[in-house]
Amino acid sequence: MKTILTGIRANSVLTLGNYLGALIPMVRLANHYSADNHINIFIPDLHSIISDIDGSLQDNIIRTLKYWLAAGLVVNENIHIYRQSYVPAHSELCWILNCTATMGETSRMIQYKEKSKGQDTCNVGIFDYPILMAADILLYGAEFVPIGEDQFQHIELTRDIAMRFNRKYGEVFTIPAKTADQIKFMGLSNGIRIRDLLSPEKKMSKSTPAENSKIMLDDDPTRAAKKIMSATTDSIGRIRYDMFTQPGISNLLQIEALVTDTPLENVVQKWTGETSYGELKRTVAESVSKMLADLQSNLAQISDEEVLRILQAGESYANEVANRKLHEAQKAVGLR
Ligand code: ATP
Ligand code: MG
Repeated sequence: MKTILTGIRANSVLTLGNYLGALIPMVRLANHYSADNHINIFIPDLHSIISDIDGSLQDNIIRTLKYWLAAGLVVNENIHIYRQSYVPAHSELCWILNCTATMGETSRMIQYKEKSKGQDTCNVGIFDYPILMAADILLYGAEFVPIGEDQFQHIELTRDIAMRFNRKYGEVFTIPAKTADQIKFMGLSNGIRIRDLLSPEKKMSKSTPAENSKIMLDDDPTRAAKKIMSATTDSIGRIRYDMFTQPGISNLLQIEALVTDTPLENVVQKWTGETSYGELKRTVAESVSKMLADLQSNLAQISDEEVLRILQAGESYANEVANRKLHEAQKAVGLR
């Protein structure tokens, strides 16, 4: 069986953009492949502490997992959910890989350059986290690692480090697929970009301060409906799906399609040429508030204990697999 691995950040509450663009596609992918693949879903808590965290990390971890379950993730014996710091082999292997990676290649990482830009001092974790990420992947021999495009460079780095290690010490690591093949594999989540409700030329982001620009998954459904009603549109006065000239209207059509699980073409066909923006907004507002109400009521039925049980099973599996690979690497370099 092959392993597909993905990390989910638990630094803060998610937006409708994270939900429709990342969570739902990942849940579908996990459910789809879990019949004959190992699906490793881990919470990168060691990665979390390289930057500030909104609220309590522990609470965020439990709540994030509840959102995955509430969104329809069906945990079976092939789906393994674990917290990174509960599997100490990650940081152990990171050290070994630190001694294989070079300053040159790690300094070239765009994420590091961006995250350290303009700071007088930057923590070493920000520099080193791509190497920890390589350990996250290589411990489980994962071939496919569905992630955002900002992380593609780190997959290439992981491949380079693993190949160098294997050349020097023998065939210990499975090399993850090339970026191009990762993109093909992720076909499901291709190109979904939910826009900011007030400035629809930008994407919706949780770090945008304006509350009405984004819908949070824990928003009261009535409040979320109001945010849709006050979304920026245009003065054209006729509905058409065109992200360049009518990004606000097109965003609403996109949201309606995804939230009601209807093909975008059908939604576009239904609304094209209509002139009442108010009617479109009322329809979308109703769909979004219904979706949030359902999601929140699913979530309320999931107990902390259930989440902890899933984590304990996942962590026991992950420790077994990861310790085996760590031991191989330790033997290869002469530590055992
Ligand atoms: P931040 O403002 O802190 O960068 P964010 O809302 O952009 O937060 P990330 O944590 O950067 O969220 O991304 C989490 C996942 O959600 C990624 O896979 C990213 O591609 C996806 N994502 C983020 N924003 C959107 C969006 N507006 N539409 C679709 N997918 C999104
Ligand atoms: Mg982002």
